Amino acid sequence: MLQADLHAHTYFSDGTFSPEELAEYAVKMELQAVALTDHDSIEGWPRMEQACAKLGIRFVPGSELTSQWRSKEIHLLAYYPDPTHQEFRESLLKFQDARTQRIHAMTGKLQELGIPLSFEQVAEVANCNSPGRPHVARALVEHGFCRNMDDAFKKYLKKDRPAWAPKFRIKADEAIRLIHRAGGVAVLAHPGLLNQDSVVHEILELGLDGVECDHSRHSEMERRKYRQIAEGKGLLVTGGSDCHGRNKGEPLLGKVTVPMEWVDRVENLAQSRKKSLLDTNSPEQITT
Ligand code: AMP
Ligand code: FE
Ligand code: FE
Ligand code: ZN
Repeated sequence: MLQADLHAHTYFSDGTFSPEELAEYAVKMELQAVALTDHDSIEGWPRMEQACAKLGIRFVPGSELTSQWRSKEIHLLAYYPDPTHQEFRESLLKFQDARTQRIHAMTGKLQELGIPLSFEQVAEVANCNSPGRPHVARALVEHGFCRNMDDAFKKYLKKDRPAWAPKFRIKADEAIRLIHRAGGVAVLAHPGLLNQDSVVHEILELGLDGVECDHSRHSEMERRKYRQIAEGKGLLVTGGSDCHGRNKGEPLLGKVTVPMEWVDRVENLAQSRKKSLLDTNSPEQITT
């Protein structure tokens, strides 16, 4: 059966693969389509689009937006947002600026703790517009301050540790409306990782289009449960591996897949949304 993986990251956020490596790995896993869903970024799209075209597979453009609902961090997958939409572009820049400020805050805290890791050393490791804690962790390891990434998170970067800094996030309902205004499809990523279904149910009422029911970290029981919930609400069902490359051993890409018809449904919804936006935004025809 023809399959797609609708959740993957590259080194344009916290993955290790380049877009070309991601596309090649998708072919190796015999996927027909792969989505690029870097955190708060679409920087990798042009190269991913080109790599997929060259290899004859379908590219699904996406991004995983950081949002918040009731103090929980909610990841929202935006599929097919218009990359030229001004408000969407400005929002991504705002996310990226906040992420950069956050790296300054974390390296500042590390320096206060006597660890002379500079912002520039993290920026060199991150080398993208959407830096995050994994880049700080990798820089701590590369410069000999920690044994490994896990050590870096446990000692300094986890929420209750001394170099943690809060992350900028917009409210989930705002994020959904933003995705819609940009002609995209809004999908709740990995609801199982929230560990609180009451929050999931609230988010489902905010105008979402779909739910990522199948995910590497969802058990078979959770997948069934979320599929039932999504279908009951008439929402799209999606799935993906959330591959971050070779960060943690064997790449996950292709380990969670969905049929191509599900991808068609997502793309069709995005297309009809763009069409109706165009209809409502175009000036009224003047009849004489
Ligand atoms: P951020 O978005 O900057 O807060 O970073 C979140 C990222 O850190 C997620 O992609 C996680 O996979 C990663 N992460 C969280 N805990 C750890 C850990 N102990 N070791 C490695 N990566 C981690
Ligand atoms: Fe990530
Ligand atoms: Fe996520
Ligand atoms: Zn992800």
